[in-house]
Amino acid sequence: MVLKKWLSIFCMVILLTPSFVYGEVQNQETLDRERMSLYSEAEALTFIPWYYFAAIDTYERNIRLARKDIPKRTDGVLSFYISPEDWSGLGNPVQNDSYLPTIHLFGGIGMDGNGDGRANSTNDEDILYTYINRLHYYGPSRSYIKMMLWDYYQRSKTVEMIMGYARMYEKYGKLTIEGNAFPVPLRSDHSYQSTWGAPRSFGGRRIHEGTDIFAHYGVPVRATCYGIIETKGWNRIGGWRIGIRDLQNNYHYYAHLGGFNKEISQGQIVEPGTVIGYVGSSGYGPPGTSGKFPPHLHYGIYKDNGYTEWSFDPYPRLRMWERQERINRKK
Ligand SMILES: [Zn+2]
Repeated sequence: MVLKKWLSIFCMVILLTPSFVYGEVQNQETLDRERMSLYSEAEALTFIPWYYFAAIDTYERNIRLARKDIPKRTDGVLSFYISPEDWSGLGNPVQNDSYLPTIHLFGGIGMDGNGDGRANSTNDEDILYTYINRLHYYGPSRSYIKMMLWDYYQRSKTVEMIMGYARMYEKYGKLTIEGNAFPVPLRSDHSYQSTWGAPRSFGGRRIHEGTDIFAHYGVPVRATCYGIIETKGWNRIGGWRIGIRDLQNNYHYYAHLGGFNKEISQGQIVEPGTVIGYVGSSGYGPPGTSGKFPPHLHYGIYKDNGYTEWSFDPYPRLRMWERQERINRKK
């Protein structure tokens, strides 16, 4: 009896799964369509290409996910953030005021973007219009947009991230750019364990901020995601290393490389599986130092929240990507 009950639950789960997955895809498509139409509206208003608005929105969405001091949005599809004080004006007794005369009276910046006569702080068009009006507009060229972003965010890392995202959206012409790969070929002889947080001593007391994937010299090292090469070169601990920024504000760090793929350069867009370099044992000294430990790839992920970055354990993702790639190969 119990078995029969479990069996029927099991069957229900099986039956429900495909429609659930399909529903999720549908949702993402609807979201992308709604967002795209708002970015296009912004482009029509400003002559700034849609992909810059997509990039800013993505950056701000990631910030909201990573920070507790900025509220999550429960309605709407955009993530541009304008604080309640900025929107309604300092000292305005109505916290989310939508009445334009009182907003103006208190020096608030909330505006009416959809033409209903109200400045509604939960309406996407009103938010977007208010955000646009807050920008210092110099012109639609790349360098002018960069200046505009600098004025707004006052942080070069943020400006670089947004400019990078914009290039990715421009290249692919769509908002959902997804996929992952395991950093070394599955067929290569490799092993790794969860050692994030273990103590390390070279270069002062610190913790191990990543996972070491042991493999032979010369095994190709591959990008694990879509992203932009943010750093490439030598650092004392990491040796020859590469840093890739993805669309979730993550910085993927590949260290101790034996060499780089010669085709790879800073600022370049990479895809899951793009070979960026080769396993080696470089690091722990001045440029060229090598062989102080067995060859391995040190892989770390750092998350940015708009003012600082922190490391988190990449091990669960590595296991997931490895499993996923195995499954895909069998298909
Ligand atoms: Zn390591």
